[in-house]
Amino acid sequence: NELVIAIDGPSGAGKSSTARGVATRLGLDYLDTGAMYRAMSWACMVGGIDMTSPAAMLERAGNAELQMVLDPADPRVVVDGHDVTAAIREPAIAEHVSAVAGVIPIRELLTGQMRRIIADSARIVAEGRDVTTVVWPQAQLRLLMVADPAARIARREAELAGAAGHERVVSSIVDRDRKDSAVSQFETPAEGVRLLDTTHLGLDEVIGTVIAMASD
Ligand code: C5P
Repeated sequence: NELVIAIDGPSGAGKSSTARGVATRLGLDYLDTGAMYRAMSWACMVGGIDMTSPAAMLERAGNAELQMVLDPADPRVVVDGHDVTAAIREPAIAEHVSAVAGVIPIRELLTGQMRRIIADSARIVAEGRDVTTVVWPQAQLRLLMVADPAARIARREAELAGAAGHERVVSSIVDRDRKDSAVSQFETPAEGVRLLDTTHLGLDEVIGTVIAMASD
């Protein structure tokens, strides 16, 4: 029987760690939709595409063959046969990803792929910005995960373990919130979407809360 858990929220709210933890404990697949936008950003950058030209970005995205490995213990992203799982976490990718994600036909292309992946799996945790509202609003459980900006910055810094300076982390979170505000509004959850504020919760508590919600 189908079980889709959809989780949306801004960067650093704890979506990925939570989604992977929940998927592992419930034996579900895991899909990081943000990684799909990052993969297209990678394809454009490596291809020397003009990141101010929506038409050029769309053409590159349309030709890229994207493969998502849904194992929550080791999720991987493969583009045109290259494993880009590590490469798409580079700050340069994050800086350009909102431009790629702002191109509506690229969103439509990726949304179609996301729907196929979710339908084929049928038992999956999918996280991103618009999974609860656009990609799969029929999910059995829909969550909007939020946290204060300071908490999100601290988590991202811990995750990067000093690989990026404080200023760079702050600007990457603050800038991306602003750039993404056109595609995602996180102040109030959409109808039927449950709000989960993780500012004062540890990862295990958040995972436990989501699992309890999924089994109501
Ligand atoms: O979650 P993550 O930070 O990896 O997402 C990268 C980017 O992908 C976001 O900043 C946003 O621009 C875009 N995105 C989106 N819709 C989604 C998931 C991600 O526009 N469902």
